[in-house]
Amino acid sequence: MTRASPASLLTRSWRAEPQAPPDLDTPIKARVLIVDDDERNAFAAVQALEELGHELVTAKSGEEALRMLLTEEFAVILLDLHMPGMDGYETAALIRTRKRTARTPIVFLTAIFRDEAHVFQAYSAGAVDVVFKPVDPFILKSKVTVLVDLYMKTEEVKRQAAYQQWLLDEHARLQAEKAQTERALRRTEARQEAILQSLPIVFTSRSIDPPFAPQFVSESVKDITGFPASRFVDEPEFGSSRIHPEDLDRVIEAVSGAARTGRYACEFRWLCADGQYRVLSDQGVVAPGEGGEPREIFGVMLDATDRHSLEEQLAQARKMEAVGQLTGGVAHDFNNLLTVVLGNIDMLGRKKDEDEARRMRRIDAIRQAAERGRDLTRQLLAFSRRQHLSPVTVDANALIRDFAPLMRQAVGEAVTIDLQLSDEQLCAHVDPTQLETALLNLAVNARDAMPDGGTVTIHTTREGERIAIEVRDTGVGMSPEVRDRVFEPFFTTKEVGKGSGLGLSQVYGFVRQSEGEVHVESAPGKGTSFQLILPASTAPLEPMAADVRPKVIRGGDERILLVEDDPTVLALTLDMLTGLGYQVHTATNAAEALEFLHTGEEIDLLFTDVVMPGGVSGVSLARTARELRPGLKVLLTSGFVGEGAVIENAEFPLLDKPYETALLAAKLRRLLDGEEPPKRKGRPKAERAAAAE
Ligand code: ADP
Ligand code: MG
Repeated sequence: MTRASPASLLTRSWRAEPQAPPDLDTPIKARVLIVDDDERNAFAAVQALEELGHELVTAKSGEEALRMLLTEEFAVILLDLHMPGMDGYETAALIRTRKRTARTPIVFLTAIFRDEAHVFQAYSAGAVDVVFKPVDPFILKSKVTVLVDLYMKTEEVKRQAAYQQWLLDEHARLQAEKAQTERALRRTEARQEAILQSLPIVFTSRSIDPPFAPQFVSESVKDITGFPASRFVDEPEFGSSRIHPEDLDRVIEAVSGAARTGRYACEFRWLCADGQYRVLSDQGVVAPGEGGEPREIFGVMLDATDRHSLEEQLAQARKMEAVGQLTGGVAHDFNNLLTVVLGNIDMLGRKKDEDEARRMRRIDAIRQAAERGRDLTRQLLAFSRRQHLSPVTVDANALIRDFAPLMRQAVGEAVTIDLQLSDEQLCAHVDPTQLETALLNLAVNARDAMPDGGTVTIHTTREGERIAIEVRDTGVGMSPEVRDRVFEPFFTTKEVGKGSGLGLSQVYGFVRQSEGEVHVESAPGKGTSFQLILPASTAPLEPMAADVRPKVIRGGDERILLVEDDPTVLALTLDMLTGLGYQVHTATNAAEALEFLHTGEEIDLLFTDVVMPGGVSGVSLARTARELRPGLKVLLTSGFVGEGAVIENAEFPLLDKPYETALLAAKLRRLLDGEEPPKRKGRPKAERAAAAE
């Protein structure tokens, strides 16, 4: 057995090259060969045949004729019988023996051999006819015409046969080619199917219109969900029916959006056959419907459960680390503060004979330490996004412009602050004090990153529904490791005493609580850019109502119901209030307060803590109180607002803890005198949050 060579394997395809079809259009030409040693005879024949229009070729001898017949084709041969050398018989015999010419009709021309014996010999030598000389032109013409016609018909038949054969060949070739293509296609399909099967990915195509019925789902769906693909295709609602109820709206929204955006991507929990939820990541693109066909969504889906749980673990680990850092940091800072407080109190208690100036210095030190403690908790609250925000609609450009002098003072002369503010107003609904604090934190960081001076550029733009404030410096920049951690509380690269690690935590907390985003871009030696993205506001500008510390402290003699669960705070506040001249009744929780309200005893104002044990918050206490006594004045106070319960625009005014006598006094007077500014127009979210209490 011979082995096929690799080359022949490659070119084995059957008659791969298509052949040109045989020519059917060029008219068939007949040529007539006249063989005569006598030129006059030949000429006579030519003259006789000329008008037929065929090509006439003459040869002077049998040898010459045979030579010509080797290469050329003739319809008829007119052959003189009597020639010197090879005579007509001999020539005819040779013509007949050659395959090429065996069937070419020969007409003998003879003048001498007219007897029957010669004529018989002539026919046996292969003649089809014998014409006697001198030739009658009419007879020769008609004989040649008959033979040429026959030739032409035969040629035509041959041509047709060749064409038929060509058609058959061509058909066979195309069939073979098609079979080969089909085989290749089947192989490709089988290969693709194998790949699809082995990949942990589900391919889908589905309708672009709700309920987005799947038209195709690859079999691999069974490996992930435990259900066969047919289930999804046969029951259009099956896929969505097992999406986690909490995720369903989001998924529908994402997939519906594809009709507009051309693509979608979402992740959701899906209830698998084993009763467990798995996280599926689903992405798709819209295929344009061609030729009036409806548009379709092609998608891929994969199991993202493992990735999710890893991400969760990582987030948990990070949270633990952050909590560790936080507690460590808070403890460290508070210990320092408490050292100052306790040390000085101890001295005040023991050294009773110290002079007044010294004692005042100690009290000042205690106050300062306590104030730093208060600032610290504010920053912590800012990070945990539980601070009480007082958002108003402000023009960020105006705020930055007004605040720039303070920033310039903070960064010093070596650093230039370059304002690149957009021309239009950039209104945002934010707490202006917090925004200023954030800007200050960013500016101070920029200064620290530029020990030899440089430029801080503050650039503002409006981007559709949002405004962007960028603070960029030309400083040392950050490594990716530092950049990833800058928002963590107490994360600092600065030496002890220089950095608290809380600046960017405040920025982050404030922006997130304001429903915005903060982005950072930085590389070592390339400077740093912080981008604060805040939702734009269309509400009219409001004047900033800052709680400035009043100079004159005014009290009153109205009746106040004070509710506070912390006994020391209660005692202190009671001191403050009675010191201001008010008549105070106290309660340590909502139930006690309500009991008092039911006694019917008159009061002018309810002053209550928000967060209290016993399940009833200050907010709901205030609401019940208002129901019992419409028109009752209410002031809430809180160290922080419960998670999600940002009562920024709530129905009751609020005083932040810790508060000082002056602030409390002013707030009470304004309320009691009916001067407290009207409640801000609540945003729906804030109302929801407050109502959820
Ligand atoms: P602190 O300034 O007290 O260290 P921050 O939260 O403000 O705390 O910043 C945390 C860390 O982020 C800084 O210690 C510093 O490493 C890095 N950082 C912040 N801003 C910049 C900046 N503009 N350029 C370089 N590094 C910065
Ligand atoms: Mg800082």
